[in-house]
Amino acid sequence: MSNAVAAPDLVAAYEEAFAGSRARYELSQKSLAGGIAHDGRFMRPFPLQVERADGAYKWDVDGHRLIDYAVGHGSLILGHNNPRIIAAMHAQLDKGTHYSAGHEAEILWAQQVQKMVPSAQLVRFTGSGTESNLLAMRLARAFTGKPGVLKFEGHFHGWSDYVIKGESPPFEDPGAPGVPDEVLRTVAVVPPDDLGAVEERLTQGDIAAILIEPSGASWSSVPLADGTLEALRDLATKYRAVLIFDEVITGFRWAPGGAQERYGVTPDMTTMAKIVAGGMPGGAVAGRADIMEYIIFKDDPDWNARKVSHPGTYNANPLAATAGYTCLTQCADGTVQRRCDDLAAKIRVGINCLLDDRGIDGAAWGESSVFHITVGPKITNRTRGDLRLPEGLSPTALKKSGRSGAAIPLQLAMALEGVDLFHGGGLLSVQHSDEDVAFTLSAFDNALTRLVDSGYVS
Ligand code: PMP
Repeated sequence: MSNAVAAPDLVAAYEEAFAGSRARYELSQKSLAGGIAHDGRFMRPFPLQVERADGAYKWDVDGHRLIDYAVGHGSLILGHNNPRIIAAMHAQLDKGTHYSAGHEAEILWAQQVQKMVPSAQLVRFTGSGTESNLLAMRLARAFTGKPGVLKFEGHFHGWSDYVIKGESPPFEDPGAPGVPDEVLRTVAVVPPDDLGAVEERLTQGDIAAILIEPSGASWSSVPLADGTLEALRDLATKYRAVLIFDEVITGFRWAPGGAQERYGVTPDMTTMAKIVAGGMPGGAVAGRADIMEYIIFKDDPDWNARKVSHPGTYNANPLAATAGYTCLTQCADGTVQRRCDDLAAKIRVGINCLLDDRGIDGAAWGESSVFHITVGPKITNRTRGDLRLPEGLSPTALKKSGRSGAAIPLQLAMALEGVDLFHGGGLLSVQHSDEDVAFTLSAFDNALTRLVDSGYVS
């Protein structure tokens, strides 16, 4: 995603070490548009090509073992190849992969979501996080009879026409190539730290839903001010808007019941993907029964003609349902989340100490079991401890921290040291060990030396 180009010596070292990835990337570009399957996997000089993964590691085509902090874009909180998920999926494979009909695994899966997620009175499964947000917005519009959606600058809710608006800076120019202006006009984008602007927009009376990443933009890279979720809860109720928490990342990670459990604020609707489907493609929308009702067929042709439509070939696919259910049952008592939180805090604190030891500006920060890193910018509340919000950086700089400045050079340097970062930071799984954390911190120390030697930081 970044056009940043690393210094020649760092690039040369990367190109030499990962020659097999380069060759395969060149081959892929002849068939795969851009040589990648997800914009977020774009990287200069080229992204890594992986052969296999297990536990907390993946192995690239050149045979390097890398500690994996992307963990399936955050979906693998149990690590790669969790034995119980794999066994359940093997058993399901033998019974068929698509019935075009109801099946037991989807019921067990929905019951488990109901048990864990406070807002989940009823559940509907989807194919992805993008689809979950599309469905939740449609339900909110049908329920309220209003057309608009209010979202926040920098908050990511998938790649659909509606929510791509205002996802990345510059926020004052929220154009989106390929998206009609008519669609963009139905979405209001407001700064997350301006509750006055939120209320002002709600008074216009056309907002059906307030959609938010409850961690703040990009899994806490731009944390919300204290009290924001509570205030939005009150405003949504006051102005009859549906409060939707996008828990695609935070769901089952921030707590067994997601960010809503951790922060004690219950939204009307919750959108999920990633961990909910145990690393398989899948998502879910859950929420208040009186809103979810708008998706339900009744013995009333008039109602059925007006109800919200929701088909989807891969919804609650038996393999995803089996993986999801088997994953969630292992994440239900909070042990997994506490362990991952603890490891992430050790990484954040360890990085802050290393930066301080070496007198290099920057910081690590984050919440729950994730960490973000920036190297180079001056952080005014620099600490040798844990940090939730690095001060001295604008929301735009925080949002872009994983892809600008020294982020790409750091990604290359960490890869050379045996660690695969994700958007300038990472997410933990229970398969990461204390030894992996120690290895990561020593890799970061060596990566800093590489950045200093290449002239990125001084
Ligand atoms: N919402 C959030 C908060 C996300 O992080 C993502 C994906 N990273 C999505 C929605 C979109 O999910 P998907 O990629 O499954 O469409």
